[in-house]
Amino acid sequence: MKQYLYAANWKMYLPMQEEILFFTSHKQEFTELSTQASIALFPSYLSLPAIAQELQGSSIKLGAQDCSAAPLGAYTGQVSARSIAQVGCTYCIVGHSERRALGETNDIIAQKVTRLLENSVTPIVCIGETAQENAQGVTLTILEMQLEPILKVISDKPLVIAYEPVWAIGTNRTPTSTDIEKILLHIATMTAHHKNITLLYGGSIDKDNIKEFKNNAHIGGFLIGHASMDSQEFKKIVQS
Ligand code: PEP
Repeated sequence: MKQYLYAANWKMYLPMQEEILFFTSHKQEFTELSTQASIALFPSYLSLPAIAQELQGSSIKLGAQDCSAAPLGAYTGQVSARSIAQVGCTYCIVGHSERRALGETNDIIAQKVTRLLENSVTPIVCIGETAQENAQGVTLTILEMQLEPILKVISDKPLVIAYEPVWAIGTNRTPTSTDIEKILLHIATMTAHHKNITLLYGGSIDKDNIKEFKNNAHIGGFLIGHASMDSQEFKKIVQS
């Protein structure tokens, strides 16, 4: 059976103490799920050390939600890829649409990928079109523009690409199976000459729509936002 990666993006839904408590209260359930699938948790920065400590020896993986494009230096408020590696993260999300909305460009995202690979952290690069781009029929062109700078900087180290249509994030709307098929085939073709690339889908995944996505041969896992904050829903997504 296919071993999917389920990446739980906890965004900034909870403040640090509540986020750590959310983790500790559900640790047993996450641990059980991690015997059935690859589970990776993405808490906010300040919760990472405490959760990393709790995860020592666990098969649950830890990830950060972003990192700096710079190696180290005078970058007030930023967190380096090196720190993310030191705290014990296996993964780091970059290029999330909620970060792109703050002005992050494809070149900056490619620099972040470089920093992460230098520190042996696997980048999860988010790409996806806005509602307007979708309506204009330029989705594939947008995805190419987002992917090309990334493909120039990667070697054969593991890389994850998450197709997340911006209009599907947090909206309870998802693309049709036909659209997903076409888009993921395009991404798979673009990345075919790179080894070690896993494709995820993200955007309003829930316990009711997950089965349909699992019919897609190119999907290697899911990036899950709000549904990952409901442990019962998350469990059903993983077990469906
Ligand atoms: C996300 O923000 O990466 C995401 C997939 O969010 P949601 O599941 O809430 O749409």
